[in-house]
Amino acid sequence: MTAHIDAHLHLSCDGDVGLQMLADLDLKLLNISVPQPDRQKWRARTAVFRSLAARHPDRFAWVAGFDLPTFAADGQPERDYAERVIAELDADLAAGAVGVKIWKNVGMELIKPSGQYLMVDDPIYDPIYDYLQTRGTTLVLHIGEPRSCWRPLDDPADPHYGYYSRNPQWHMYGRQDVPSHGDIIDARDRMVAGHPGLRVIGAHLASLEYDVDAVAQRLEEFPNFAVDTSARLLDLALQDTTRVRAFVEHYRERILFGTDIVDATPWSTLPAADVAARARLTQDRIASELAWYGKAGDMQIRDRTVQGLQLPADVLDDVLGRNAERWYPGL
Ligand SMILES: [Zn+2]
Repeated sequence: MTAHIDAHLHLSCDGDVGLQMLADLDLKLLNISVPQPDRQKWRARTAVFRSLAARHPDRFAWVAGFDLPTFAADGQPERDYAERVIAELDADLAAGAVGVKIWKNVGMELIKPSGQYLMVDDPIYDPIYDYLQTRGTTLVLHIGEPRSCWRPLDDPADPHYGYYSRNPQWHMYGRQDVPSHGDIIDARDRMVAGHPGLRVIGAHLASLEYDVDAVAQRLEEFPNFAVDTSARLLDLALQDTTRVRAFVEHYRERILFGTDIVDATPWSTLPAADVAARARLTQDRIASELAWYGKAGDMQIRDRTVQGLQLPADVLDDVLGRNAERWYPGL
């Protein structure tokens, strides 16, 4: 087994340089498919993730996605939506997927003909959730966004300032027509509570990145729920170190390390100089994120000086590797 597993990213680092980087980091990757409206595009990316895992099962695994439902003008969902999705998931799971993902466009983008946003606890999904539970397949939910998404974009020190500056279409502050952070989290919580036999991972600290106590409350309430830390390391690092350490130690079997690196172009298709530069940057980023969990004292994460979490070695083994294997059977 590899020492480390990045349980949430989107990185097609195939070819010798990429494989050497993973060997140096002693790392296996869980690539997550992101289902978007452009079906051809996301299926093509998924095919790359699938083929990487087939060729290098010691270094790569993958999580499948599925299409959003469509609705007729009379408000009726497309006929046989669940059957169509389940048939495709059947094929993806047979091809080696170790989980299935739902993305934030559920709850934040797709509006039903009734004018209501499609939420993750919509009954249209129940047959799919039942199917995943029967198969014993893990569902990973990127539902909602950081709380900053609904707040004014006026603090450059906020870890999410850069993303919403570059992606204003996802910045919800001042929008009365969209569900609030609380509405979206409530729908997610109802869904997790309503399917206690389904294993669910809340990506990005379950969109409760602002306070480990809010995450802890869900972990207490839902035994079928775990979280990944992807793209939220700074949110953890900026909270009180002692509290965060106690939180991670207490829930040491239910927190999965992830980076959320997005680099979908297969490295094998890029010029050698470009690959070398990407490998350096990627390796540095993953190494520094891995290091934060164990390090004592100050270190740099992105442009910030933060204090390392200084977890004991056995907790590091869980969070940085073993938990991904626990929560994604087959990985
Ligand atoms: Zn992601």
